[in-house]
Amino acid sequence: MKLFPIRGGIHPDYRKELSSEKSIVTLPMPVALYIPLQQHIGAPAEVLVNEGDLVKKGQMIARSGGAVSAPQHAPTSGRIQAISAIAAPHPSGLAQTTIILEPDGKDEWANLPEPIADPLNADPQLIRERVAQSGIVGMGGAAFPSAVKLDLGMRYKLEILLLNGAECEPYLTCDDRVMREHADEVIDGARIMAHALGTPRVVIAIEDNKPQALAAMTQAASVFTGIEVVGVPVQYPMGSERHLVQAITGRETPAKKLTADIGVVVHNVATARAVHHAVRFGRPLVSRVVTVSGGAIREPNNIEAPIGARVADLVAFCGGFAVVPERLVNGGPMMGQPLPGLDVPVVKGMSGILALTAGEIDPQPASACIRCGSCVTICPCGLVPVEMAAFIRKDNFEVAAKLGVMDCVSCGSCSWVCPSHIPLVHYFNYAKGMINAQGREQRKNDQTRILSEAHTLRVEKAAADKAAALAAKKAQAAAAAAAKEAAAKEKEKDETPA
Ligand code: SF4
Ligand code: SF4
Repeated sequence: MKLFPIRGGIHPDYRKELSSEKSIVTLPMPVALYIPLQQHIGAPAEVLVNEGDLVKKGQMIARSGGAVSAPQHAPTSGRIQAISAIAAPHPSGLAQTTIILEPDGKDEWANLPEPIADPLNADPQLIRERVAQSGIVGMGGAAFPSAVKLDLGMRYKLEILLLNGAECEPYLTCDDRVMREHADEVIDGARIMAHALGTPRVVIAIEDNKPQALAAMTQAASVFTGIEVVGVPVQYPMGSERHLVQAITGRETPAKKLTADIGVVVHNVATARAVHHAVRFGRPLVSRVVTVSGGAIREPNNIEAPIGARVADLVAFCGGFAVVPERLVNGGPMMGQPLPGLDVPVVKGMSGILALTAGEIDPQPASACIRCGSCVTICPCGLVPVEMAAFIRKDNFEVAAKLGVMDCVSCGSCSWVCPSHIPLVHYFNYAKGMINAQGREQRKNDQTRILSEAHTLRVEKAAADKAAALAAKKAQAAAAAAAKEAAAKEKEKDETPA
């Protein structure tokens, strides 16, 4: 297949060798699981259980909270110990409502939905509903509800389902291992998703630094038609949706548009595997593979962990820390978020837990910009980071937005390359947050204005209606009086002797 170049990009030290040869191992069941209601983009799930309830593995314990949301299921059987606010795996460390489950050690499945018979010929709506009921979200880190993305075939003319196996973030190897060890499941999930979307082609893109994954997926796909497995160059951020689409199709996704606008939908390989489990076995998403790595981890590994296991459980399973980590990260070192501590739970979108040493993060104080232009050269989105940062520093978000800050994919390449160690991507994340908040505020104000104008219109119309009714009544009375007077005159005329 012909590939197309993507702009810019970098080649960081990948360090995947720390865990890439470690087969997926299952975490022993922890003594408690912490299942947050908000593990996805969209509305939080709504609790369906009470303290003290006994639940089975796979039982829905919180239902979807809206059109863009996802339900939560018990990752094992046990007792609901509490429903309370605990710290989430978010840099803020803010608490959020969490269901705490005490496993009973039996790991007993609930009565699961029946497998969908012959899913490749089933009604696509059935597949989408099953994916929605199974709580599946994008497992590459975005955590967007997958069923909503599978609906795109209803609104767009789609040509390609692009399965993202690039895994371009340093250290992370969970997708690599999933593709090597469960290639058949990934391919089956991809075929089911393509059927639900109505896409005639499936392309599976894997960076060339995963030759075993490429071989396993090529072998598993070889018995089917319409599936192409493609090696793509090792170039960060190749795994960014828009850039992967560009590398495969040569098409650029326009600003403020979806890849669906140019005929492509992207899903992660682990998401495809989850779809296979949900459709073929009725199993909801209750566990995921997480890479635990970094120089501070004694024995890096790829762990299949129940949703809700604490980060501390996974770190302990890896032999604990060899040295005190300088930084804990949720995800990869480029786009991941700082972890507020070890007590936060594994969530559906958590692909990696990194414990990095000072040598790995090489913290350096920022100095003045020397106008070298390196950040401009490497930006894969064609932005001018140095200019955007200058305006953001002055809180001028309007100009930053005009310069395209909302198109920034937060890949961190500009920060990585900057010789002055300016944390450019932090500026852009901050600006995007501010612009989104201002947009929300503006929408709220607009909504209030519209409501207020509608109220004024209603009041004015009611007054006008009332005045018109009064006038009509007066006119009616005047007409009646005139008629009466005319009748009286007529009568008087009749009674007057001639
Ligand atoms: S400006 Fe955004 S997209 Fe461009 S290199 Fe920096 S973080 Fe990446
Ligand atoms: S890379 Fe850093 S020093 Fe160079 S122009 Fe960009 S912000 Fe300035």
